Amino acid sequence: MGGLELEAVFSYDCLLGHEYVERFFARVIEGGKVGHAYLFFGPRGVGKKTFAFYLAQWLLCRDSSREGPCLECVSCQKVQHNNHPDISFFSPAEDRLWIPLEAVMQIQREVSYAPLEGGYRIAIVDEVERMNEEAANAFLKTLEEPQGNAIFILLAENIYSLKDTIVSRVQKVRFAPLSLERVWGYCRREFSEEGVLDGVVYSSMGSLERVRQFMDSGWLERRDWLLGMLEGEEFRFSSGFVEGILGQLESFSKRQARRKELVETLELLETLFRDLGVLSSCSRGILFHPDRRDRLEEISRKCSFVEWFHLFHLCWQTRQKLAYNLHLELTLENFAIEFQQEWGLS
Ligand SMILES: [Zn+2]
Repeated sequence: MGGLELEAVFSYDCLLGHEYVERFFARVIEGGKVGHAYLFFGPRGVGKKTFAFYLAQWLLCRDSSREGPCLECVSCQKVQHNNHPDISFFSPAEDRLWIPLEAVMQIQREVSYAPLEGGYRIAIVDEVERMNEEAANAFLKTLEEPQGNAIFILLAENIYSLKDTIVSRVQKVRFAPLSLERVWGYCRREFSEEGVLDGVVYSSMGSLERVRQFMDSGWLERRDWLLGMLEGEEFRFSSGFVEGILGQLESFSKRQARRKELVETLELLETLFRDLGVLSSCSRGILFHPDRRDRLEEISRKCSFVEWFHLFHLCWQTRQKLAYNLHLELTLENFAIEFQQEWGLS
């Protein structure tokens, strides 16, 4: 957990698609009814964090209006340059799975100071679902006894993984995935059009962060590698497929910090299995990977819909465990065993 770490991705572009949230806060601010804690929830990478900083800028602006912050006053400039003393940003450390109690105590300390520039003290807490039991209990106390000028903006992907007692003490604001048109619009501006495939846009699930990740993480190559594995003779008839996948997964797992990459590979495999299931049932459903339809159609004949669904489910389960489980090796081992049982392999 650190101080303010506003990412370079803070661009007002990212507010697109959340106009209804903007209208909601326009009413709140105009009516002088700003709450002491908000929970922004919705899929990863749809703009929750960006909006949180935008809202902070709006609340601290010296010349704000119904339309938003002025973007020009000293306060707005400070937010834009990442050095406003009354905003603190917290996110779990890269190598830690949980937000520990000490981090919550740090948050409590920071919001207890009076605002340096008048107005509010704003704490933005990312991935709040990662607080461990102890930390969540301590944090609950902070929410129960709001400090004069402190405002919390909590960010979470999944509202159901939070304690009910926390959820009931905050105002919930839902962030929906962006529409495909929005994602395409962003891609056209940011990348040359030929470079972006339908697969990137559809698999982004309405998240610009995913698009950026896909474009710079070798996602396209990884996808083709996985497709190649699924096309191979050994898939279905030997354990070569599992070994190949695990080989890659294990090389990732040696570097703990790359757990995210591992989770991404499983997620990718999941979307491929999902498409294969759709195609094997002859359904005309929308694919995550429409740009690889021909190859997927060919592969889909190797298994039944039910089999593809089981594989999809197995990947999903493993990914959920990996996101929270410390025992990476154990989880991968289970994945291998179940995968091989699924195929009657040994
Ligand atoms: Zn301003």
